[in-house]
Amino acid sequence: RAKAGGRGQAVMFTQEQEEVLRLRRQMEEDLRQALDLGQLFLVFQPKFSIATGRLKGCEALLRWQHPQRGLVSPGTFIPVAEETGLIHPITQRVLDLACRQAMAWRLQGLEVPVAVNLSAGHFGADQGLRLVETALAETGCDPALLEVEVTEGLFLRCAETARRNLEALRGLGVRIALDDFGTGYSSLGYLQHLSFDVIKLDRSFILGLGEPATADSVPGRRIADAIMRLAHGLGAEVVAEGVETEAQLNVLRQLGCDHAQGFLLGRPMPAEALSEVARGQAEGAGSRSVA
Ligand code: C2E
Ligand code: MG
Ligand code: MG
Ligand code: MG
Repeated sequence: RAKAGGRGQAVMFTQEQEEVLRLRRQMEEDLRQALDLGQLFLVFQPKFSIATGRLKGCEALLRWQHPQRGLVSPGTFIPVAEETGLIHPITQRVLDLACRQAMAWRLQGLEVPVAVNLSAGHFGADQGLRLVETALAETGCDPALLEVEVTEGLFLRCAETARRNLEALRGLGVRIALDDFGTGYSSLGYLQHLSFDVIKLDRSFILGLGEPATADSVPGRRIADAIMRLAHGLGAEVVAEGVETEAQLNVLRQLGCDHAQGFLLGRPMPAEALSEVARGQAEGAGSRSVA
């Protein structure tokens, strides 16, 4: 057992807790290195219009190629980045890479807007706005090619700062998406004061959709239907996340969902692979019809 003083208080750590702390410090150190050594990279998951089957854009998802541990998922390292403040330089890098990619596509004649995930921690002060402004200025990216995804957790703390930042971002011409909708602990009150361009229906609501409808799947379908009406009533488009089956896609089409993203339509992939998807569509051949 070790003793650690904090604000004059002696805290006893068990061996297990010490091990957790050690691993966390190690990951923090590794993450710093990852930024310096360029071990962080993006993959892009396509998003399609359900009615027409056309590619509407993509979401940039972060990956970490760790020298010993191999590919580390964002679910593991983003929380550490958020706790240590490393999330700010990491997001700056993500925005920079995403903006450069969207502009590179445009130069190739491909119009593929990119959505980037922002953390709630960026909105305690005005970092969220500053990170995006910096990326746009440094890359010369057209703001219309950038979308930012935020989650409801944003409104738990600093709701007013968050609202101001998001309004300013929209003022720049950046689209705002509300990610994982319906899974946070927020009330719906914030929807009165802030408009979103896109609402992303969380995968947990998509899982139970499918045909034939069973008694178990009816509540999920009603919730998805209600969220769709709410979003459309507020003037937002709806993207269904995590679509894995044709049956889910069929129900979503019946419910009037605008866009779909998921393994059925395309996994997160390297930029070059997404270029191929976009090119296939531009030629009108080889595109995967979801209509
Ligand atoms: P998210 O923003 O909700 O992203 C969607 C996640 O669902 C991605 O996981 C994606 O690979 C996965 N997914 C997409 N389609 C399907 C499907 O059909 N079935 C299933 N089972 N999963 C699907 P990923 O890439 O592991 O990212 C997990 C989360 O990590 C993201 O959730 C996001 O919250 C966070 N994240 C990823 N990249 C970044 C980043 O650059 N910055 C920040 N702050 N967070 C990030
Ligand atoms: Mg997202
Ligand atoms: Mg999501
Ligand atoms: Mg989700």
